[in-house]
Amino acid sequence: MIFDILTLFPEMLRSPLEGSILGKARKEGLIEVNLINIRDYAEGKHRVTDDYPYGGGKGMIMKPEPIIKGVKLIKSVDPAAWVILMTPQGMPFKQEVAKRLAQLSHLVLICGRYEGVDERVRDFVNEEISIGDYVLTGGELAALVLIDVVSRLIPGVLGAEGAPDDDSFSQGLLEYPQYTRPKEYEGRRVPEVLLSGNHQAIERWRRKEALRRTWQRRPDLLAKAGLSEEDMEILAELKRSSKAD
Ligand code: SAM
Repeated sequence: MIFDILTLFPEMLRSPLEGSILGKARKEGLIEVNLINIRDYAEGKHRVTDDYPYGGGKGMIMKPEPIIKGVKLIKSVDPAAWVILMTPQGMPFKQEVAKRLAQLSHLVLICGRYEGVDERVRDFVNEEISIGDYVLTGGELAALVLIDVVSRLIPGVLGAEGAPDDDSFSQGLLEYPQYTRPKEYEGRRVPEVLLSGNHQAIERWRRKEALRRTWQRRPDLLAKAGLSEEDMEILAELKRSSKAD
């Protein structure tokens, strides 16, 4: 997977992309990340990339030409490149969106700054993505979030260190509680079933706890989680016993 990031602040992205799992994935050639400075495509001696908004108002707007020039250049080499504008006005970024993007071979992420990008840039993008209902100072952190989430879904990136299929949201539910050693910490014991070695019982317990946690914290997820009849029975039992408490 190739990620091209169009940004005015490539330095901001360098370090988070070097360490840990993303750094390793890059070294192993599982992902390629290119930091492209939008200023390189700006014209004139001063390579200006922003200007005042027509109609007045506070703040600056990123000029269309340098961004569109960068996008066109990338598309001229790889017409299949999928262009995403990072914007709080975009579609919410969710695990299912990440799964879809992880199937593609080349993503181009446009990072806005200031008051955002000239509206005409939107004609050159395939989709707009928001990482949440809040406003960042720039698209760089949003792009990093997207790269991180999508990369860990690419086969081989997590290696033996993780199992994305068990993660929260992957199966429509939050993940079950996890424990490691010691067996007991300040009087808090690891649930006995996890020490039993009985894999079926452990799977049953994990499913029940994932359902319980989702019902308690994110009941909105349950409707779309594709629950089985057995899941529905477990949920009904959880609800009955919570009423009895
Ligand atoms: N004036 C814009 C608006 O109200 O929609 C916000 C501009 S914001 C200060 C600057 C840039 O940060 C945006 O162009 C976008 O690239 C990025 N950004 C801010 N919040 C974001 C979010 N929630 N998701 C994705 N990108 C975001």
